[in-house]
Amino acid sequence: MIERKQEGGRLSVRVESLQQIVRFDIDTDRCCGCKVCIRNCQENVWQWDEEHKHAWPKYADECVRCYICELKCKGNCFEIVPEEVLRHDPLYSEPIFGKGE
Ligand code: SF4
Ligand code: SF4
Repeated sequence: MIERKQEGGRLSVRVESLQQIVRFDIDTDRCCGCKVCIRNCQENVWQWDEEHKHAWPKYADECVRCYICELKCKGNCFEIVPEEVLRHDPLYSEPIFGKGE
């Protein structure tokens, strides 16, 4: 489940999955459009928003929290905030798809 909230120049993208809850806090006014985040994300999380002219993590549910995009963004436009991680620990929890499958 991905929530996208825009308030002025602040965009918040929050993703809640089985494994984690992660939030991207983006200052869209600072985005210069260099697309470094898009080019460097191996999971193709970042996409270009042509209408609003800034990058945004459209596929945030694919994020593996390597933080390469955050390190490479020279404009320091965003922060990745892990709210909850390792929600389902495969070593100690029931199998996701049930026993015997
Ligand atoms: S790296 Fe930063 S400045 Fe460049 S497009 Fe991405 S968010 Fe915008
Ligand atoms: S933290 Fe890694 S996987 Fe997540 S959006 Fe950034 S580059 Fe992509």
